[in-house]
Amino acid sequence: MTEQPSYRFAPAFEAPSGSAIRELFKYLSQPGMISFAGGYPPPALFDQAGLAAAAERALREAPIDCLQYAATEGLPMLREQLQALMARRGCPVALDELMVTTGSQQGLDLLIKVLLSPGDRVLVERPTYPATLQALRLAGCALAGVATDAQGLSTEALAEQLAGQPRGHFRLLYCVPSFANPTGACLPLARRLALLALAAEHDFLIVEDDPYGALRFRGEALPSLFALQNQVPGAQGRVVHLSSLSKVVAPGLRVGWMVAPLPVRQRCTIAKQTVDLCTSPWAQRIAAEYLAAGALEQHLPALVAGYRAKAERMLAGLAGLAEHLEVAPPEGGMFVWGRCRHGVQAREVFERAVEHNVLFVPGAAFFGDQPDPSSLRLSFAAPGLEAIDQGLERLRAAFA
Ligand code: PMP
Repeated sequence: MTEQPSYRFAPAFEAPSGSAIRELFKYLSQPGMISFAGGYPPPALFDQAGLAAAAERALREAPIDCLQYAATEGLPMLREQLQALMARRGCPVALDELMVTTGSQQGLDLLIKVLLSPGDRVLVERPTYPATLQALRLAGCALAGVATDAQGLSTEALAEQLAGQPRGHFRLLYCVPSFANPTGACLPLARRLALLALAAEHDFLIVEDDPYGALRFRGEALPSLFALQNQVPGAQGRVVHLSSLSKVVAPGLRVGWMVAPLPVRQRCTIAKQTVDLCTSPWAQRIAAEYLAAGALEQHLPALVAGYRAKAERMLAGLAGLAEHLEVAPPEGGMFVWGRCRHGVQAREVFERAVEHNVLFVPGAAFFGDQPDPSSLRLSFAAPGLEAIDQGLERLRAAFA
């Protein structure tokens, strides 16, 4: 008789819980399902022609760059293009401080590897992006949630939380200041400056995750925390900036980047050597060709207009659900955050929504602690305008 091997797992993987959002994928195959669940760019908003041209140029003009291994910090051409992109976003950065990552998700993982040890205290917005919670939990970090409101992270609540703690009590704060996942909130300038001042006063690093900042469809652009750090005494060198082409070009490229103070960036490069040696050079070269041709600048207005139309359609439809659901209108990004009224739990509505063939994400997945069971996240990104109307009709039926 053959004996079954008994696997011995690393402690963090003995009984891991996977992503709650990925769990919802099984419902996507239900025929006729309308999904407000994932933050997926819609097929119609991909610049397929621009990307096909970039891919053709990449292989024709630089076949060896595409086919060979590349430097771990990224193809020079792409790093230069990303540096230029950051400058256009009002954030000049040194080339040395910028590295390419396999999606911004990898940037976060590398930072956790080089900056954090089990037991280290980390501040996160409450609610926040679940893959960050998952990564920090797997690393054994102690998470502390910071209250948010319609304008994002409450710097007042944070100041209260920090008061009385010794300097350096928290190692790091992770935040998505522009059009957060899941709340869609955008942190106002005064709070950005206050957050930087708190980082200086209490000696913590800020990881600014910014995959959505370019998708502003209303209001004025705000400088990133990275761009503002020099304006706040003592804040310089305390911000790491993560961004990505996933939401403005295509998630399938798996191209993101990190801008970090040199000692951090250098260590992340070493950490990346053991993860994937380098981000796919082929994908990097396609991204570089795409950016060098000015295709992102050309495509962005249509992309932003597309999301504006979808967001407006969803908010108009949600006005009809106001007796059931209170929502915060976003100025950009892909998400609307809502709270069920009358003590209704989002999970119960979810069960009925699935029966009515519409999906959303119950809010509990986004909390590191003290989940708000009434909350839910709706994404207007993937469905077309008519599907948004229809999906909201179904949601109304689920509430009824
Ligand atoms: N950060 C946030 C806040 C996100 O919402 C996402 C994607 N959903 C990511 C990071 C990961 O993006 P990427 O595709 O660049 O890895």
